[in-house]
Amino acid sequence: YLELLGIRKTFGDALVLDDVDFTMREGELVTLLGPSGCGKSTLLRCIAGLSDLDGGRIRLGGRELTNVPPKAREVGMVFQSYALFPNLTVEGNIEYGLKMRGVGSAERKKRSEELLALVDLEEKRNAYPRHLSGGQQQRVALARSLAVQPKLLLLDEPLSALDAKIRKNLRAEIREIQKRLKMTTIFVTHDQEEALTLSDRICVMNKGRIVQDGTPETIYSEPRTEFVARFIGSYN
Ligand code: ATP
Ligand code: MG
Repeated sequence: YLELLGIRKTFGDALVLDDVDFTMREGELVTLLGPSGCGKSTLLRCIAGLSDLDGGRIRLGGRELTNVPPKAREVGMVFQSYALFPNLTVEGNIEYGLKMRGVGSAERKKRSEELLALVDLEEKRNAYPRHLSGGQQQRVALARSLAVQPKLLLLDEPLSALDAKIRKNLRAEIREIQKRLKMTTIFVTHDQEEALTLSDRICVMNKGRIVQDGTPETIYSEPRTEFVARFIGSYN
């Protein structure tokens, strides 16, 4: 469903993505797990079209994406810091992408009501982002990226700014929503526990490469390298 072939990305002399091959089935949730600076965000930005490739190809649902502009990729993205529009209400934020695509107001309203119910924020529809908690803001960001019905959802450490308890709850909520919508999702984190509890599959990254790709069970019990073992916490 998603195919990355030989993805290369450099910044100046630095090779940040070094020949990354990666495929996903429709409806899967794959976690990209790796230390700070290993290239996780860069890889997502390349998939979303926010960063140009220096080599390689991307296909999604049988369609070549490599030279398609970001807006036409049907890829949704949620970032680490809440990037909501501060001057729009919750509803306004959710409907924004639909409005840009020329969807009429009745249809927008209908879609945003469904999404408000999905992320459990119906009573906040008229609130502004500054009056929401961090967890609520990330739920709005999630609803906003789902509004345009993307073929692929990219979540770049969406929980990292939240405190432990909210983080855990929202993590479970995201997984439930992902399963219900059968949404093909890449979830980036550097939190081992998050990766182990959330994923169908984990790709461990280090220095611009995918060093191991497998189920949480395999990654935990059969780490292929000492780096993976140490990083996943099964090293002893
Ligand atoms: P983190 O867990 O801290 O978010 P990451 O795995 O997402 O890390 P990236 O943000 O993808 O890491 O960065 C990978 C490397 O590319 C880093 O060494 C970073 O300094 C470098 N880099 C990223 N963006 C740029 C840029 N626009 N210009 C130059 N170097 C960059
Ligand atoms: Mg990052």
